[in-house]
Amino acid sequence: MSAVIPIRERREPVLHDSGCVDAPVLRERGQREVFCGLTGIIWMHRKIQDAFFLVVGSRTCAHLVQSAAGVMIFAEPRFATAIIDERDLAGLADANDELDRVVHRLLERRPDIKMLFLVGSCPSEVIKLDLSRAASRLSRDYLNRVRILNYSGSGIETTFTQGEDACLAALVPELPVAQAMAGAAGTDAADAAARSLLVVGCLPDVVEDQFARLLAQIGVPDVHFFPPRSSGKLPPVDAGTRYLLAQPFLAETARALEGRGASRIAAPFPFGVEGTTAWLQAAAAAFGIDAAVVNEVTRPARERATRALQRERALLEGKRIFFFPDSQLEIPLARFLSRELGMQLAEVGTPYLHRDHLRDELALLPTGTALSEGQDVEKQLDRCREQAPDIVVCGLGLANPLEAEGLTTKWAIELVFSPIHGYEQAADLAALFSRPLVRRAKLAAGRATVNAEDACS
Ligand code: SF4
Repeated sequence: MSAVIPIRERREPVLHDSGCVDAPVLRERGQREVFCGLTGIIWMHRKIQDAFFLVVGSRTCAHLVQSAAGVMIFAEPRFATAIIDERDLAGLADANDELDRVVHRLLERRPDIKMLFLVGSCPSEVIKLDLSRAASRLSRDYLNRVRILNYSGSGIETTFTQGEDACLAALVPELPVAQAMAGAAGTDAADAAARSLLVVGCLPDVVEDQFARLLAQIGVPDVHFFPPRSSGKLPPVDAGTRYLLAQPFLAETARALEGRGASRIAAPFPFGVEGTTAWLQAAAAAFGIDAAVVNEVTRPARERATRALQRERALLEGKRIFFFPDSQLEIPLARFLSRELGMQLAEVGTPYLHRDHLRDELALLPTGTALSEGQDVEKQLDRCREQAPDIVVCGLGLANPLEAEGLTTKWAIELVFSPIHGYEQAADLAALFSRPLVRRAKLAAGRATVNAEDACS
């Protein structure tokens, strides 16, 4: 039997427990301007490479998914929309038959699909359909060939990044039991479960590879990533599995994992040098590995990232930033921008604040940061105009009007589409904020030159 490495609880306080942990939060429930959870399909389909996402929705849903996918053209796409037109309750039986027909046609034509997600949306005709029943019905037809699951990406139930959360939460019951896998490998079950780490949240492959390398060098044993790159490589989970969130918007997934007995390693999120180091240290500490080992292993990457950030700091220091609630990445990003780049936080809005998952992040925010949760968009726009920040992070719907008013904006959606985690991406992440400011400065300089030339002529 292999040696048992004691699981040590995280030493508190690893980070100073002050900042905004108990800060008051402005809660607003009004009109909101956020994408729905269908958007997550755009990054999820790239990750699980033998999965297919079939949106059961309207033409609006089809347009959203298509335009969010931009100009991507695939010979064999991995998402589509089954359009359910208006129909009354009497027509529901037909709708179910129609859905079955679409699924059969798809799976016969595409034997490469090993996992199919039926993704619900918000038109009333779709809400009337029981997609979980449809998934079980269809699963019986494709037993051992295709896993068929369902989740909702409806704009009524989910915002932008909650689509990923709903998708992963739907996948958790499919994860194999760690004990069964340990038994198959001939090792002690409890030992194997206690020694595995599950990194949770969709990461670009290049970032996943970087983290896998660092965790291996640090000595964290048996690391798995969820979601995996293929449906045949679902990671094991059981009581004693420790999981580490890579994304701050996975409340439902976390709940589902805990329902399977896994326990969360509390940590800030791996954005910037500080966040990435603290995240790796939290993982190491949970496996009894000293912080000095992490510091030694990560030194070259930290030094590289710190040097690269200096250039960005020169562009961003002292600039004021206002976050509208959109991706749920706002609080970790605000922490990174204020602490590593010297930016000032005018307001940090988030669609939903999970105090427990964000505790270490809140502790690192400057005391007195204006925090808001939810949205009443007109009121928030008024606050934003009053603050006149240097840059505003918001959804596409608000960006154009704010640009027209003379404010510089950054689309929140780009932050989810770009590789931004870890040391190697820290400067790229900072550049996502500095580029719009540089562009605005160049435009202003160009206008000033034209005006000066006009004045001379
Ligand atoms: Fe619109 Fe709802 Fe479809 Fe999203 S799910 S595109 S909010 S109709």
